[in-house]
Amino acid sequence: MERFKTGTPPRLLAGSIDYDAVEQQVEEGACWRFSSRGGARFSDRRAVCFTTRAGSRAIDAARSGIDGSPLFDGSIGGRGPRYCPSFEDKAARFPDRLEHPVFLEPMGMGGRLVYAGGMSTSLPRSAQIEMIRSLPGCGRAVVASWGYAVEYGYFPGECIGRDLRLAGTDNVFLAGQVCGTSGYEEAAGLGLVAGASAAGSAAGDVGRFRPQGSESFIGVMIEDIAGSNLEEPYRLFSSRASNRLHLRQDNAEARLLARAVSSGLSRPGDEARLRMMERQLEEARTVLNTERAGGRLLADMCRVTEFDVGSLGAMSGRLAALDPGVVFTAALDERYMGHVRRAEGRMREVERMSSVDLSCVEDFSGIDGISWESRERLQKARPANMGEAALIPGMRPSDVEGLLIGVLRMVPRGTKTGA
Ligand SMILES: Cc1cc2nc3c(=O)[nH]c(=O)nc-3n(C[C@H](O)[C@H](O)[C@H](O)COP(=O)(O)OP(=O)(O)OC[C@H]3O[C@@H](n4cnc5c(N)ncnc54)[C@H](O)[C@@H]3O)c2cc1C
Repeated sequence: MERFKTGTPPRLLAGSIDYDAVEQQVEEGACWRFSSRGGARFSDRRAVCFTTRAGSRAIDAARSGIDGSPLFDGSIGGRGPRYCPSFEDKAARFPDRLEHPVFLEPMGMGGRLVYAGGMSTSLPRSAQIEMIRSLPGCGRAVVASWGYAVEYGYFPGECIGRDLRLAGTDNVFLAGQVCGTSGYEEAAGLGLVAGASAAGSAAGDVGRFRPQGSESFIGVMIEDIAGSNLEEPYRLFSSRASNRLHLRQDNAEARLLARAVSSGLSRPGDEARLRMMERQLEEARTVLNTERAGGRLLADMCRVTEFDVGSLGAMSGRLAALDPGVVFTAALDERYMGHVRRAEGRMREVERMSSVDLSCVEDFSGIDGISWESRERLQKARPANMGEAALIPGMRPSDVEGLLIGVLRMVPRGTKTGA
């Protein structure tokens, strides 16, 4: 096994914060469900978050305590997430930044503790209290529990199969942190697949549920971690999916219910719902591509970003008779169809250009339009061609596309690229 590290911020007593001095964060609005099964109703109760800022006093306090940080003094040696650095990391690595945002998140509805998101740390308590008390709104804040850092063991991807089976075993399946991921949703997603694989194994059919990256974010995650060597705790970002406009919450059932039914993972009644949804989706697509309003095809109207797809029911009696959720999905499919096809085309192009020579690139960190984590990975791995670059663990599809564009810009016109 190998080791990663992670940290957590101090927790504050909710009643000790001056809420007049911090900014309230407004929620996004509409609630979404992945499933149309129904059941529990949405609650109207909301836990409100606030933001404040860590300025020069907090940064100085972090720098002065850095010698006492196990993350820095070597007593914790595992690699941590670059996308979620500790506060002392931010203070040391980004000296140009004069301020860092801090999110005050209540820990549960009506809870007495508030999480100081963005301030994960393993600094001594004296530095932590100085950092916290320097934040606007936290001048008299009481720390209920101190930030700390931990190391944990995980199995490298080469030990993990696409069905999440641990290499060398018949019926041990892995999920969550032990796969090198970090995060509640990542653990839950992997748990679903490991559970299905374990059940399949008991029934003599282990490969029955293997989600693909083209159809789900869980598939993207498994393709990223199984067989590859992670360089840091893995978090699933939507930018890791090449066709992310297809992987939407509104079409989760349209994408995956058929897989659930064919894998034996569905509940009674799901298959009938699936057939009904398929019929309605087909009807909605037909209507959108044949009926007009004000002389314009409904499908064309859907492609205009400002168009409110919720108004379609008022424009067509046939659409009004369908499930509004299905009409919404059919309308968004029309809206994003061009983007989804372009993304598919770009991935085909990247595949076609896999032999493009990268020896002309001396410094990958200078290529615009790709994430800094990927620039670091490229600089370290120094791939010989685009095919090798695309295979570097953790390289996001969007970064592979960005690299191709950047490299093609570097090559003088008329030069053979090797593709
Ligand atoms: C300090 C810290 C802060 C974090 N903050 C966040 C955050 O804000 N947001 C986020 O998304 N993620 C966060 N994470 C990551 C997230 O908590 C983990 O990635 C996730 O909980 C992993 O889930 P898991 O099921 O793999 O493991 P765990 O949640 O650790 O569950 C493993 C369970 O197995 C039990 N167990 C262990 N050994 C045995 C045994 N022999 N027999 C029976 N039971 C056993 C343990 O008691 C535990 O309950 C944080 C992690 C840490 C350490």
